[in-house]
Amino acid sequence: MKGELVEEKVEIISKLTEQITEKFKRSGYEVNPKEISKRLELLMFEFKVPEREAIRTVNNYLMKELDVSREQLSMESPFIKIGEITRPNQWVSFKAKIVQLWDSTSPNVSQVGLVGDETGIIKFVTWAKSGKPEVAEGKSYIFRNLVTDSFGGRMQVNVNRNSEIEEIAEDVPLPPREIKVTGALIAIQQNSGLIQRCNECRRTVSKGICPVHGKTESYDDLRIKGVLDDGENFYEIILNEDNIKALTGIGLEEAKKIAKENLERGVVLQTLRNRLLGKYFTVNGTRGERYLIVNEIDFFRDELGEKIDELLTRLGAEQ
Ligand SMILES: [Zn+2]
Repeated sequence: MKGELVEEKVEIISKLTEQITEKFKRSGYEVNPKEISKRLELLMFEFKVPEREAIRTVNNYLMKELDVSREQLSMESPFIKIGEITRPNQWVSFKAKIVQLWDSTSPNVSQVGLVGDETGIIKFVTWAKSGKPEVAEGKSYIFRNLVTDSFGGRMQVNVNRNSEIEEIAEDVPLPPREIKVTGALIAIQQNSGLIQRCNECRRTVSKGICPVHGKTESYDDLRIKGVLDDGENFYEIILNEDNIKALTGIGLEEAKKIAKENLERGVVLQTLRNRLLGKYFTVNGTRGERYLIVNEIDFFRDELGEKIDELLTRLGAEQ
């Protein structure tokens, strides 16, 4: 029992120490974590000072030691462009647009997705315990005091409880360009597969309702909204019926047949996911405001794959 209590105390102290250290680091001041821990422990467990009071006392002590004013300490992290984010553990601020939101798979994460400006696009993660308001796709914001992080060898930014998010009217542009990308299809959005479109405006209809025309007549279409990851950037792509048929042999008619046989349209999406998700593709496309418009897409074949194919063809010819 006693051991557990000590462990709990150690955990509280180390958490608070980290918070205080970060706060000063953000303003460019290095403080000694050992010194902070020692003072917190003394205040909280020797003198039974309440947590908030202890934090304030330690903050005041450090400000006096470093000759820092309260205003200096609340100074925000430097404004940068997303393309400049190359190192983890940096406090940054930037103006950017929410490119896409993904489904969060962790209860610790309230939002996850892509955020971008004219210099690049980066993944962002909002921790549930940060208590920050939700952001919306296509809207632009000023993000203050985010921490850069490296996950799976890739940069991302984390929204924590010290961060601030402010919506702005300005429409932050995203990087435009003609590109060829080779990468893995890491996500296929829920609104993909055999979808329905409004007869009048071609918008996607959900449960017979067009966002513009309300209850409407609709027609079937096949498409995939997905995310391609080339190891450096994420690209949102849309595949039309032709693209999908070229890759899978499943066109609109085949998709309708699959849906009919299973009495369930969702089976088409599941089939496409099984066939395409996680696979590597080469895409020739035009970077739009939001999407990489696919001109051509094919399964990625590396040199080795091509050699094996060549060999197999030759072997086949010899038989
Ligand atoms: Zn419509």
